[in-house]
This record gives sequence, structure tokens and C-alpha cells, in this order.
Amino acid sequence: MIGSFEVVVVGLGAIGSQTLAALASRGISAIGIDRYAPPHDRGSSHGRSRLIRFAYFEHPDYVPLVRRAMQLWSELERATGRSLFVRTGLLQSGPPDSPLIAGIEASAAMHGLEIERPDRRETEGRFPVVIPEGWPILFEQDAGYLLPELAIEAALSVARIHGATLLTDCPVRQAVRRGGGWRVTTDRGELQAERLVLTVGPWTGAWHALGPSPPTILRKHLFWYGCRDDRWLVRSAAPSFLFDTGSAYLYGMPNGDGSGVKIARHDGGVEVAPDDDDRRIGRDDEQRDADEFARRFLTGLSPAPIAHEICRYSMSPDGDFRLGDRDDGRVVWVSGLSGHGFKFATALGEQVAMRIETGAWHPSVRFLTARD
Ligand SMILES: Cc1cc2nc3c(=O)[nH]c(=O)nc-3n(C[C@H](O)[C@H](O)[C@H](O)COP(=O)(O)OP(=O)(O)OC[C@H]3O[C@@H](n4cnc5c(N)ncnc54)[C@H](O)[C@@H]3O)c2cc1C
Repeated sequence: MIGSFEVVVVGLGAIGSQTLAALASRGISAIGIDRYAPPHDRGSSHGRSRLIRFAYFEHPDYVPLVRRAMQLWSELERATGRSLFVRTGLLQSGPPDSPLIAGIEASAAMHGLEIERPDRRETEGRFPVVIPEGWPILFEQDAGYLLPELAIEAALSVARIHGATLLTDCPVRQAVRRGGGWRVTTDRGELQAERLVLTVGPWTGAWHALGPSPPTILRKHLFWYGCRDDRWLVRSAAPSFLFDTGSAYLYGMPNGDGSGVKIARHDGGVEVAPDDDDRRIGRDDEQRDADEFARRFLTGLSPAPIAHEICRYSMSPDGDFRLGDRDDGRVVWVSGLSGHGFKFATALGEQVAMRIETGAWHPSVRFLTARD
């Protein structure tokens, strides 16, 4: 028997690591278990950078949550002495009727967020980009990117300092109701816990019987391009970027660590099984999309990628997150993060810990609960 705990967190990726830290910081006895050794490259939380932006085009209801997440990212930086956020600003553009532009404007107006609207000539002078005539340009100064692998390490170190138990390289095979809680079976033995938190990302479907709806898993590609232009360096104030090209959404980050400029397509993707690990470049159409984007909208980059990685999106039917619970909070889950969840990880971890502590979801996340 491994032991008895108030909470067992299954899955220590972006969300589980933060949830474990939030629980342990509140003095709740918790164990976190992962089938691999986080941070790892088998789930959804790797690839050196994740955008964080505030004028949320997807829906204004996310804005308070992302603001809270940013406060908590800063607290985590202070608590661990590590730098996890790189403030680059975010350049966003698209056709005048783009939902991206309308969504950013709506969120900015509703929440009083500051957005610069530089003209085309000014933008092209300031950054190594090419903007089509007549396209709106929105620049969000406070946006940037997070360092996902370091962020997971930081959260797990906070969890450990506050007394959480960690089990890695240890798959959880089963959880069955026993007494008032759960008997959990792992490859290294059994444990007892009052509550079960499922933060298993692409593997959520395996836990369907306990509550969460299975997300659709998409294979996504990340590409890094070499830069001939020093203006792509973070230290030269190069921006992160997000464009609606008229046929696809592409985004990326400047060269912060010498690995090049990252470019990826946000929409699209090929459906795969959660354990699919086919990492071949050129496997899907996304390299063609990224190459074309780099050629058309950015200047000074290599014509083809110099590095490549794959990752997985866990899609909900509408692209909104799923926060759920059953059985009076005996099981709580976060799932369906649909390719935009990393930036929220600190806030979502806090929300799960608060749900467990108070017995109810906070009003600020009720737009994400009880959707299925
Ligand atoms: C290419 C790509 C780009 C992205 N870009 C952005 C971005 O710019 N900004 C942004 O905010 N978000 C972005 N996202 C989304 C974000 O990264 C994800 O929403 C987030 O990382 C998901 O975290 P998670 O904890 O749910 O899943 P994961 O990190 O996959 O964690 C799940 C964990 O559960 C473990 N696990 C599963 N089953 C078991 C089991 N039975 N026993 C034990 N452990 C188990 C796994 O090993 C894994 O560690 C992107 C995602 C991808 C793939």
C-alpha cells in the first residue's frame, strides 16, 4: 500500500502539476502520479513556448481567468526564483472581417484592455513582417510566452516543498469507489484517497466512465525556422504573432533561446489515438501551411524548418474547456483544453483546489462547468 491521501491527482502535465501545487500549498495532503516523468514530450505540454494573451478572441469570459493566471505565474516565478514568462508583445492581424479581430476587439472593449493599433507602414518598419493592405493590426504589449517545461518543473518543486508526494513513470490503471473515497491501482501498488482529480489531457477518454467526455485528439506540428535577421531575436524586441491568413490561423514566437522562430498552425489537425507517437515531419499538411505563412507574412527566415516537434490537442466539441465533477466532488476533472489551455494552468489548478476546499466551483468558471 502506497498510503492514504486526501486527494490523488492523476496526470502531472500543465494542469495536474499546478493543481498538485495548489492543493499542497493549501495544506491538503495530496499525491500526484504520472505515467511518464514530467516534463516530458508525450502529452500536450512540451515545445519550449506557449502563448499567453489577454484580449481573448475566443470569448471575453476567459479574460478574468487569464488575468488571474498571469498573477499566479508571477507568484510562481517569485516563489521558485525562475523566469517562466517572456514578455514580447503579440502582433495580431487578419482580414477586416476576421473573427480573430472582432473577438480581440470585443474582449478588449469589455475588459478595458490596452491594445495598440499601429498602421501598416509603422508595423513593417518596427518588425520583420509583411501585412496585406487594408488588414487591421492589433498589438498587445503585455502578451508573450511561457516556458512550459520549466513551468511544470517549477510547479512540481512547489508541490514537493509543501509536502506533496510524487510518483512518476507510474501509470494509474484503475480507480474504484471504496468506502467514502477511492482505491487507486498503479503499477507500483495501491493507494487510498478521498478524492480523485483527473488531469490526464489526451488520455481523458480512458476515464469516461467516471464522468469526463472523451475529447477528440489532434496531432499538431511545431516548426522552428532559422533567422538571418537579428530583428527576430527576443532581445531585439521581436514580437510573438497570431494571424488569421484568411484560410488558417497561424501563430509563433520569436527567437528567444537560439532555436529559431517557432511557427505552428492553430486550427486544423489530424485525428489520432492518444498514444500515437508518429513524429515524422511532413506527415500532414501543416509544414506546407507554415512554410507558406513564413514566406508570405514574415521576412528573414529560412525557407524550410530547421527543427520540428509534434504535440496533441484535446478538443472539446465547441473548443471551450471542460471543468467537471461528479458525486459531490469525489471526482473532479479538467479536460478538453482544445489547444489553448496552457496559459490558464495556474488559474485552473487554483480552481480545482478551491472546488475541493469549498465544495463549489467559483462563479468565474461556471461558464466552463456542467457543459456536457
Ligand atoms: C502544439 C501545441 C501548441 C499549443 N500552444 C498553446 C499556446 O500557445 N498557449 C496555450 O495557452 N496553450 C497552448 N496549447 C495547449 C496547452 O499546451 C494544453 O492545453 C495543455 O498543455 C494541456 O495540459 P494537460 O495537463 O491537460 O495535458 P498533458 O500535459 O498532456 O498532461 C496529461 C498528463 O497525464 C498523464 N497521464 C495520462 N494518463 C495517465 C495515467 N493513466 N496514469 C498516470 N498519468 C497519466 C500524462 O503522462 C501527462 O503527463 C498548445 C498545445 C499544443 C499541443
